[in-house]
Amino acid sequence: MNNNNSKNAFQKAQEVIPGGVNSPVRAFKSVGIEPIFIDKAKGTTVWDIDGNEYTDFVASWGPLILGHAHDEVLEAVANAAAKGTSYGAPTLIETEMAEQIVKMVPSIEKVRMVNSGTEATMSAIRLARGYTKRELIIKFAGCYHGHGDSFLIKAGSGAITLGLPDSPGVTKSTAKDTLTADYNNLDSVKQLFDKHKDQIAAVIVEPVAGNMGVVPPAEGFLQGLRELTCDNGALLIFDEVITGFRLAKGGAQEYFNVMPDLTTMGKIIGGGLPVGAYGGRKEIMDMLAPIGPVYQAGTLSGNPLAMAAGLTALKKLDETPNAYEDLERKAAFVAAGLRQNAEDLGMNVVLNRVGSMMTAFFTDSKQVTSFDEAMTSDTTKYAAYFKQAVESGLYIAPSQYECLFISMAHTEKDLEKLIKGNRKALEAIK
Ligand code: PMP
Repeated sequence: MNNNNSKNAFQKAQEVIPGGVNSPVRAFKSVGIEPIFIDKAKGTTVWDIDGNEYTDFVASWGPLILGHAHDEVLEAVANAAAKGTSYGAPTLIETEMAEQIVKMVPSIEKVRMVNSGTEATMSAIRLARGYTKRELIIKFAGCYHGHGDSFLIKAGSGAITLGLPDSPGVTKSTAKDTLTADYNNLDSVKQLFDKHKDQIAAVIVEPVAGNMGVVPPAEGFLQGLRELTCDNGALLIFDEVITGFRLAKGGAQEYFNVMPDLTTMGKIIGGGLPVGAYGGRKEIMDMLAPIGPVYQAGTLSGNPLAMAAGLTALKKLDETPNAYEDLERKAAFVAAGLRQNAEDLGMNVVLNRVGSMMTAFFTDSKQVTSFDEAMTSDTTKYAAYFKQAVESGLYIAPSQYECLFISMAHTEKDLEKLIKGNRKALEAIK
């Protein structure tokens, strides 16, 4: 595979952009090859600047559940752009978007738009602290909630991929307000509540962990968090930046039937444009300025292009018959194929899947139900696998600790290509 253009582009980029990229995992550092520079994409196909063609299972890290450059999304964005790209003033489509979210997500009565998942989570914990008049939050080791200071404590995703789960630049006083518990371990949460009585504002959790690779919540874990937070006067925040509109119309809260107080969203909600949102019960959301004392703002929040893309994507998901059943069927087919490949070749792989998000962990552990078990993965093996997969024309995450996403645009042919490419790659690294 010729990748000279990408190599040259990366050289040039590194002179003017730190590490040559605007978000760390894109640098492919952990897999030891130069990043692929993208030229264009359509549906499930991505072309790089050397003209190589890949079938995409990254989906821009989750947002593109309809596939790339979906015609209806493009049309909505073009129509919006023709009327002006930003006003910093209210528009009708913002209310339409909020109505659509309130309709789809069961626990949300009011919602505020922001520009990224990071902004959504930062704002949600400020609101939780303002509402409860308490300062501490609990997060789980290996969960990632964006790059806000309070969350760069035992963080997942790129932070663990690069071995940087705690970041310099986060002050000690900020770090001490974030307590960490173990995912799928209610006792670890209870102990923190016992130790810090009446001081914990909120527990924030990825209802399905996606940033240590996919780790599903154990039976009763989310319900247990609901009970512990209620008993202790703290809010429960579901970070549904990945799971929102992916596991069901109403996200993980609908899928598992556990209702949080606040929900943070990103990715799919923007239809591929930079959008995030957070929402919840009216009495909590009404603490926000201008009607309440908790301040949060944004020049480009509710941007008309972003709203046009996001609303089109959400409506499509809402209105397509059997959208989530189809995703489930396709993802189950892929998971079965990947499991079979590993079994046939006698390789130790744990395949975790919830709906259309999955991770194949290269580990000798029998199961991956916790961060510690996820960390037993052989990342050197993953790197070798990744290189082989790319050679087979598969575009997958350059890290063990991410998800593989199935989209509505994937065809049977795409899924078969993935299963075949996976087998070829496994044979090569065996
Ligand atoms: N929360 C979760 C669960 C995420 O997966 C991410 C990003 N991968 C974020 C928050 C941060 O979102 P963004 O990258 O849009 O800031």
